[in-house]
Amino acid sequence: MSEVAVIGLGRMGSALAKALITSRRSVTVWNRTPGKAEALEHLGASRAETPSAAIAASSTLIVCLSDYAATSMVLDACATDLLQGKTVVQLTSGTPKQARQLEEWVANRGGSYLDGAISAWPSQIGGPEASIVIAGRESVFTSLEASLRLLAPNLTHVGNDISRAKVLFNAALAYFAGHWIGFSHGAAMCAAEGMDVAEFGETIASLSPMFADDLRHMGRAIEGNRFADPQSTIRSVGVDITRLVEIADDLNINTAFPAFASDLFRNATDAGYGAEEHCAIVKVIRAW
Ligand code: NAP
Repeated sequence: MSEVAVIGLGRMGSALAKALITSRRSVTVWNRTPGKAEALEHLGASRAETPSAAIAASSTLIVCLSDYAATSMVLDACATDLLQGKTVVQLTSGTPKQARQLEEWVANRGGSYLDGAISAWPSQIGGPEASIVIAGRESVFTSLEASLRLLAPNLTHVGNDISRAKVLFNAALAYFAGHWIGFSHGAAMCAAEGMDVAEFGETIASLSPMFADDLRHMGRAIEGNRFADPQSTIRSVGVDITRLVEIADDLNINTAFPAFASDLFRNATDAGYGAEEHCAIVKVIRAW
């Protein structure tokens, strides 16, 4: 028996397996394309010929595949009693609903289930920058905590509700989508005006303490539904954002991002929220 089977040896799965092996854990690996196991075999992993053989050889199963559909394809092909008494740790990205469905599927086969989300590049796995959040039964988490911490010292159990890791991961991804697009739009403006984009990066970086305060403030304001004491308003920020469309037009760069943002702020003003603070924009996004 090995301690852990790692199913999926893409960029991330290989990094997870390597971190465990170099910490002297006994690891069995399986990948659809067998060649990807070679480097790990040289480090000391055992290579299984099939997912079933990998699962049979280990009490804990770490899954890191492209998506939950691939996970289902791989696990469905195994005998129904193979997961009896084993723990599946799903580190593949997906939706909260997929996490709930897989938890039920594993439970029906007598296994335990943890669902996680990785915030790190493969090269960071095992190092101080790596962060993983894990949801699922606390006793199951505790039994695997030491091994999971080898993958990411910054490991957080976010509760018994299995969907929470994927909720947090996808909420953060929504934030980063705006961050990446917003930065790139600003960078295109700077470049079109002949300015150094690296200098723009430094300027935004110097504002990061203010972002931290604003993030905490927005979380509290939205949670408490309190928007009535604004330092800036939906209306005034909306006017500034609408000006970005004019600037993008002047510079002949893509107007999609400022046009989208401008529409959202206009909708909020039209809906009567113009005098409330900037994060009241959530009122035209949320479902409650
Ligand atoms: P990747 O390099 O593209 O690897 C994908 C893996 O899934 C490979 O092992 C591939 O097998 C396997 N696979 C896909 N379809 C399959 C199927 N139908 N049956 C069996 N195996 C199948 O992706 P990755 O970067 O390792 O990402 C894996 C997961 O980690 C994703 O959910 C991703 O969102 C998450 N993640 C990645 C990063 C990152 O920076 N890379 C960061 C955070 C989270 P083959 O080798 O045979 O193709």
